[in-house]
Amino acid sequence: MVAQRYHEIQSRVKAACERSGRNASDVTLISVSKTKPAELIREVYDAGARDFGENKVQELMEKYPALPADIQWHMIGHLQTNKVRQVVGKACLIHSVDSVKLAREIEKESARQNTVTPVLLEVNVAREESKFGFFLENTEAALKEIAEFPHVRIQGLMTIAPFVENAEENRQIFRKLYQFFIDIKSKNVDNVNMNVLSMGMTGDFEVAIEEGATMVRVGTGIFGERQIRENV
Ligand SMILES: *Cc1c(COP(=O)(O)O)cnc(C)c1O
Repeated sequence: MVAQRYHEIQSRVKAACERSGRNASDVTLISVSKTKPAELIREVYDAGARDFGENKVQELMEKYPALPADIQWHMIGHLQTNKVRQVVGKACLIHSVDSVKLAREIEKESARQNTVTPVLLEVNVAREESKFGFFLENTEAALKEIAEFPHVRIQGLMTIAPFVENAEENRQIFRKLYQFFIDIKSKNVDNVNMNVLSMGMTGDFEVAIEEGATMVRVGTGIFGERQIRENV
């Protein structure tokens, strides 16, 4: 069943790409497997998925050794500085860098492991109090500061749009972040690659693709409802 849902979401990703004149290969579908057991993740893996997203370090640590080594694990949840050590070297991309302090910790640990860690800056476009992330007007200054860290490589931006009934309500949010993304990209900041725009979830990933997302993070649409309503 999860395999079938995965294929369905994949076709919807493809259709949204076609509608908006984009290549399907420009958009990566991340299967968000938080709270779901390894056996279920394995089914989606067998259906062809290689990119999975987790929002808790503890869960990532448990699943990482239990599943195939060619999985690309995306850290999409708020990350505490004291957990950075566990994530560096395991996550292919940290989507949720929401402070310079966190980036500094990633820098320290990446230097220690002699690696460079790819990250996205999380932007709280809608200025929701319940959410982490930089406000849009503070993002450029933070980006320039983080760009100075040699073992951290900014690859783009991420946002979690508000929970809405109608995905269209988030179109302006996605459009705003895309515009900012293009603007920063044109500035060619040293040590920054503005290539990844991670936005869109089960309820609104098609609108996000139409507005320029290069990564969408889909949980419920593939794995079904989660038992716990966790804070994201
Ligand atoms: C849980 C989560 C998702 C997936 O949400 P769904 O609505 O289940 O698709 C995407 N992004 C983040 C950061 C999440 O925590």
